[in-house]
Amino acid sequence: MLEELKKEVYQANMDLPHYGLVTFTWGNVSGIDREKGLFVIKPSGIDYENLSPEDMVVMDLEGNKIEGNYQPSSDTATHVELYKAFSEIGGIVHTHSSYATSWAQAGRSIPCYGTTHADYIYGEVPCVRCLTKEEIDCGYEENTGHLIVDFFQEMEKDVMAVPAVLCKNHGPFTWGKDSKEAVHHAVVLEEVAKMAYRAESLNPHIQPAPEELQQKHYYRKHGTKAYYGQKEIGSVNLLVEKL
Ligand code: 13P
Repeated sequence: MLEELKKEVYQANMDLPHYGLVTFTWGNVSGIDREKGLFVIKPSGIDYENLSPEDMVVMDLEGNKIEGNYQPSSDTATHVELYKAFSEIGGIVHTHSSYATSWAQAGRSIPCYGTTHADYIYGEVPCVRCLTKEEIDCGYEENTGHLIVDFFQEMEKDVMAVPAVLCKNHGPFTWGKDSKEAVHHAVVLEEVAKMAYRAESLNPHIQPAPEELQQKHYYRKHGTKAYYGQKEIGSVNLLVEKL
Protein backbone atom coordinates (compact mmCIF):
# COMPACT_ATOMS: atom_id res chain seq x y z
CA MET A 1 0.00 0.00 0.00
CA LEU A 2 1.29 3.50 -0.96
CA GLU A 3 4.61 1.96 -2.04
CA GLU A 4 5.77 5.03 -3.99
CA LEU A 5 4.95 7.37 -1.12
CA LYS A 6 6.78 5.05 1.30
CA LYS A 7 9.89 5.25 -0.89
CA GLU A 8 9.62 9.05 -1.08
CA VAL A 9 9.14 9.44 2.69
CA TYR A 10 11.92 6.93 3.43
CA GLN A 11 14.30 8.94 1.22
CA ALA A 12 13.23 12.21 2.87
CA ASN A 13 13.94 10.69 6.31
CA MET A 14 17.36 9.49 5.13
CA ASP A 15 18.10 13.02 3.91
CA LEU A 16 17.98 14.28 7.53
CA PRO A 17 21.26 12.57 8.61
CA HIS A 18 22.68 13.26 5.13
CA TYR A 19 22.26 17.01 5.69
CA GLY A 20 23.46 16.80 9.30
CA LEU A 21 20.08 17.71 10.78
CA VAL A 22 19.69 14.78 13.19
CA THR A 23 21.64 12.88 15.84
CA PHE A 24 20.79 9.28 16.82
CA THR A 25 17.05 8.64 16.19
CA TRP A 26 15.96 12.28 16.55
CA GLY A 27 13.63 13.78 13.98
CA ASN A 28 10.91 12.47 11.69
CA VAL A 29 9.44 13.10 8.24
CA SER A 30 5.98 12.30 6.85
CA GLY A 31 4.23 12.72 3.50
CA ILE A 32 0.53 12.57 2.66
CA ASP A 33 -1.63 11.15 -0.14
CA ARG A 34 -4.50 13.67 -0.08
CA GLU A 35 -6.76 11.60 -2.38
CA LYS A 36 -6.63 8.61 -0.07
CA GLY A 37 -6.52 10.72 3.11
CA LEU A 38 -3.56 8.64 4.36
CA PHE A 39 -0.04 9.66 5.30
CA VAL A 40 3.24 7.79 5.69
CA ILE A 41 5.61 8.48 8.58
CA LYS A 42 8.87 7.23 10.06
CA PRO A 43 8.59 4.56 12.78
CA SER A 44 9.53 5.74 16.27
CA GLY A 45 13.03 5.33 17.64
CA ILE A 46 14.60 3.19 14.89
CA ASP A 47 18.17 4.03 13.83
CA TYR A 48 18.20 5.75 10.44
CA GLU A 49 20.83 3.31 9.14
CA ASN A 50 18.47 0.40 9.82
CA LEU A 51 15.41 1.94 8.15
CA SER A 52 13.95 0.69 4.86
CA PRO A 53 10.95 1.88 2.81
CA GLU A 54 8.87 -1.07 4.09
CA ASP A 55 9.35 0.14 7.67
CA MET A 56 7.39 3.33 7.00
CA VAL A 57 4.03 3.41 8.81
CA VAL A 58 0.74 4.27 7.07
CA MET A 59 -1.68 6.36 9.15
CA ASP A 60 -5.10 7.94 8.64
CA LEU A 61 -6.04 11.46 9.69
CA GLU A 62 -7.82 10.17 12.80
CA GLY A 63 -4.44 8.92 14.01
CA ASN A 64 -5.20 5.21 13.36
CA LYS A 65 -2.41 2.96 12.12
CA ILE A 66 -3.49 1.49 8.77
CA GLU A 67 -0.36 -0.50 7.92
CA GLY A 68 3.11 -1.08 9.33
CA ASN A 69 5.12 -3.38 11.58
CA TYR A 70 6.26 -0.61 13.90
CA GLN A 71 4.78 2.10 16.11
CA PRO A 72 4.67 5.42 14.24
CA SER A 73 6.79 8.42 15.27
CA SER A 74 6.01 9.78 18.72
CA ASP A 75 5.21 13.11 17.01
CA THR A 76 2.53 11.60 14.75
CA ALA A 77 -0.35 13.47 16.43
CA THR A 78 1.36 16.81 15.68
CA HIS A 79 1.65 15.84 12.00
CA VAL A 80 -2.07 14.86 12.01
CA GLU A 81 -3.16 18.28 13.30
CA LEU A 82 -1.07 20.13 10.70
CA TYR A 83 -2.37 17.98 7.82
CA LYS A 84 -5.99 18.41 8.99
CA ALA A 85 -5.75 22.19 9.33
CA PHE A 86 -3.77 23.04 6.17
CA SER A 87 -4.70 21.20 2.97
CA GLU A 88 -1.73 22.79 1.12
CA ILE A 89 0.76 20.89 3.27
CA GLY A 90 1.99 17.66 1.64
CA GLY A 91 4.98 16.83 3.83
CA ILE A 92 6.19 17.63 7.36
CA VAL A 93 9.59 17.48 9.08
CA HIS A 94 10.57 17.68 12.72
CA THR A 95 14.21 17.85 13.81
CA HIS A 96 16.31 18.91 16.77
CA SER A 97 18.82 20.58 14.44
CA SER A 98 21.27 22.51 16.56
CA TYR A 99 20.88 26.18 15.60
CA ALA A 100 17.13 26.15 15.02
CA THR A 101 16.65 24.34 18.34
CA SER A 102 18.87 26.87 20.09
CA TRP A 103 16.53 29.68 18.97
CA ALA A 104 13.55 27.56 20.11
CA GLN A 105 15.13 26.95 23.50
CA ALA A 106 15.83 30.67 23.85
CA GLY A 107 12.14 31.27 23.03
CA ARG A 108 13.04 33.59 20.16
CA SER A 109 11.56 33.99 16.71
CA ILE A 110 14.25 34.29 14.01
CA PRO A 111 14.20 37.78 12.46
CA CYS A 112 14.82 38.07 8.73
CA TYR A 113 18.32 39.51 8.63
CA GLY A 114 19.09 38.81 5.00
CA THR A 115 18.16 37.52 1.59
CA THR A 116 18.99 33.84 2.28
CA HIS A 117 16.08 33.88 4.72
CA ALA A 118 13.84 36.09 2.55
CA ASP A 119 14.29 33.81 -0.48
CA TYR A 120 12.35 31.07 1.34
CA ILE A 121 10.47 32.48 4.30
CA TYR A 122 8.23 35.58 4.30
CA GLY A 123 9.13 37.51 7.46
CA GLU A 124 10.39 36.05 10.72
CA VAL A 125 10.30 32.36 11.66
CA PRO A 126 7.85 32.47 14.56
CA CYS A 127 8.50 30.83 17.92
CA VAL A 128 5.27 29.68 19.59
CA ARG A 129 4.91 29.50 23.37
CA CYS A 130 5.70 26.51 25.55
CA LEU A 131 2.70 24.30 26.36
CA THR A 132 1.03 24.62 29.76
CA LYS A 133 1.30 21.82 32.34
CA GLU A 134 -2.21 20.63 31.45
CA GLU A 135 -1.39 20.64 27.73
CA ILE A 136 1.79 18.66 28.39
CA ASP A 137 0.17 16.16 30.74
CA CYS A 138 -2.75 15.31 28.47
CA GLY A 139 -2.41 15.07 24.68
CA TYR A 140 1.07 16.61 24.46
CA GLU A 141 1.77 15.93 20.76
CA GLU A 142 -1.77 16.77 19.65
CA ASN A 143 -1.64 20.00 21.67
CA THR A 144 1.66 20.92 20.02
CA GLY A 145 -0.19 20.65 16.70
CA HIS A 146 -3.15 22.73 18.00
CA LEU A 147 -0.76 25.43 19.21
CA ILE A 148 0.95 25.74 15.82
CA VAL A 149 -2.35 25.67 13.93
CA ASP A 150 -4.00 28.25 16.22
CA PHE A 151 -0.99 30.55 15.92
CA PHE A 152 -0.95 30.49 12.12
CA GLN A 153 -4.72 30.94 11.92
CA GLU A 154 -4.89 33.75 14.49
CA MET A 155 -1.98 35.61 12.89
CA GLU A 156 -3.47 34.95 9.42
CA LYS A 157 -0.11 33.63 8.27
CA ASP A 158 0.09 31.70 5.00
CA VAL A 159 1.68 28.35 5.87
CA MET A 160 3.25 28.08 2.43
CA ALA A 161 4.88 31.53 2.77
CA VAL A 162 6.10 30.72 6.29
CA PRO A 163 6.97 27.01 6.02
CA ALA A 164 8.63 26.77 9.44
CA VAL A 165 7.91 27.25 13.12
CA LEU A 166 9.86 26.93 16.35
CA CYS A 167 8.19 25.37 19.40
CA LYS A 168 9.56 26.99 22.55
CA ASN A 169 11.84 24.71 24.61
CA HIS A 170 11.42 22.02 21.98
CA GLY A 171 12.49 22.56 18.37
CA PRO A 172 11.50 23.22 14.77
CA PHE A 173 8.80 21.87 12.47
CA THR A 174 8.93 22.61 8.75
CA TRP A 175 6.61 21.64 5.90
CA GLY A 176 6.19 21.90 2.14
CA LYS A 177 4.18 20.67 -0.82
CA ASP A 178 5.73 17.21 -0.29
CA SER A 179 8.22 15.51 2.04
CA LYS A 180 11.17 16.49 -0.16
CA GLU A 181 10.30 20.19 -0.03
CA ALA A 182 9.71 19.94 3.74
CA VAL A 183 13.28 18.60 4.16
CA HIS A 184 14.58 21.37 1.88
CA HIS A 185 12.95 23.90 4.21
CA ALA A 186 14.45 22.17 7.28
CA VAL A 187 17.92 22.57 5.73
CA VAL A 188 17.25 26.22 4.88
CA LEU A 189 15.92 26.88 8.39
CA GLU A 190 19.05 25.46 10.02
CA GLU A 191 21.32 27.58 7.81
CA VAL A 192 19.24 30.70 8.40
CA ALA A 193 19.22 30.05 12.17
CA LYS A 194 23.03 29.70 12.13
CA MET A 195 23.52 32.88 10.09
CA ALA A 196 21.14 34.89 12.29
CA TYR A 197 22.95 33.73 15.44
CA ARG A 198 26.31 34.74 13.99
CA ALA A 199 24.99 38.04 12.63
CA GLU A 200 23.70 38.99 16.11
CA SER A 201 27.07 37.98 17.64
CA LEU A 202 28.93 40.19 15.17
CA ASN A 203 26.55 43.09 15.57
CA PRO A 204 24.36 43.14 18.72
CA HIS A 205 22.49 46.18 17.30
CA ILE A 206 21.55 44.45 14.04
CA GLN A 207 18.13 45.23 12.55
CA PRO A 208 16.04 43.08 10.20
CA ALA A 209 16.79 43.52 6.48
CA PRO A 210 14.82 46.39 4.87
CA GLU A 211 11.23 45.39 4.10
CA GLU A 212 11.64 46.18 0.40
CA LEU A 213 14.68 43.90 0.14
CA GLN A 214 12.85 41.08 1.93
CA GLN A 215 9.86 41.45 -0.41
CA LYS A 216 12.06 41.68 -3.52
CA HIS A 217 13.77 38.40 -2.69
CA TYR A 218 10.64 36.54 -1.59
CA TYR A 219 8.67 37.53 -4.70
CA ARG A 220 11.60 36.84 -7.04
CA LYS A 221 11.05 33.18 -6.18
CA HIS A 222 7.34 32.98 -5.33
CA GLY A 223 4.00 34.01 -6.83
CA THR A 224 2.87 34.95 -10.31
CA LYS A 225 5.70 37.44 -10.90
CA ALA A 226 8.51 35.09 -9.86
CA TYR A 227 11.45 35.09 -12.27
CA TYR A 228 14.11 33.06 -10.43
CA GLY A 229 15.40 29.90 -12.15
CA GLN A 230 14.46 28.39 -15.50
CA LYS A 231 11.07 28.31 -17.18
CA GLU A 232 10.25 24.71 -18.12
CA ILE A 233 8.62 25.51 -21.48
CA GLY A 234 11.49 27.90 -22.28
CA SER A 235 14.14 25.29 -21.65
CA VAL A 236 12.27 22.72 -23.75
CA ASN A 237 12.06 25.29 -26.56
CA LEU A 238 15.74 25.99 -26.16
CA LEU A 239 16.54 22.31 -26.56
CA VAL A 240 14.28 22.04 -29.62
CA GLU A 241 15.94 25.09 -31.16
CA LYS A 242 19.39 23.56 -30.60
CA LEU A 243 18.28 20.32 -32.31
P1 13P B 1 10.53 9.55 16.88
O1 13P B 1 11.65 8.59 16.61
O2 13P B 1 9.44 8.94 17.74
O3 13P B 1 9.99 10.17 15.62
O4 13P B 1 11.10 10.72 17.78
C1 13P B 1 12.07 11.57 17.27
C2 13P B 1 12.00 12.91 17.89
O5 13P B 1 12.80 13.74 17.53
C3 13P B 1 10.97 13.20 18.89
O6 13P B 1 10.81 14.59 19.08
